[in-house]
Amino acid sequence: MSEKVIDLLNKARSSELAAILQYMAHHYELEDADFGKLAKVLKTVAIEEMKHAEALAERILFLGGTPTTKPDVETKKGQEIAAMLATDIALEAGAVKAYNESAVQCGELRDQISKDLFDTLLGEEEAHLDQFQNIKDHVDKLGAAYLATLAGGDAE
Ligand code: FE
Ligand code: FE
Repeated sequence: MSEKVIDLLNKARSSELAAILQYMAHHYELEDADFGKLAKVLKTVAIEEMKHAEALAERILFLGGTPTTKPDVETKKGQEIAAMLATDIALEAGAVKAYNESAVQCGELRDQISKDLFDTLLGEEEAHLDQFQNIKDHVDKLGAAYLATLAGGDAE
């Protein structure tokens, strides 16, 4: 039972590590381009993904496994803002799909605590997805006028 659950938890952890690296990269690229307000959003979400990766590691260790340190996809670099957001939306949509499936599987494997963890992460990934989609919609519909509202802001 545990082996399968550990595998699901480690797959999730790999995707969290990829998201952390991607959002951190977006954070410093956006800050460098003086889009401080959007950079701050990416930093906040990156920190939430770090907490997810940590929670997954704790559960993996409790079950006797070894937490992976490998991200599951390469970090994309140098994208325009609309493309960045598309990348982020794809990461979150992938997490929502995977965590829904993993929660069901953990329930079937009678590991309610791992299922609860996936359910909790799922709720937060849905919120991230919604947040990125809203920003992307504004960028697509309003273009430069909206981008101007994301510029500047204090570096953090
Ligand atoms: Fe996450
Ligand atoms: Fe997320």
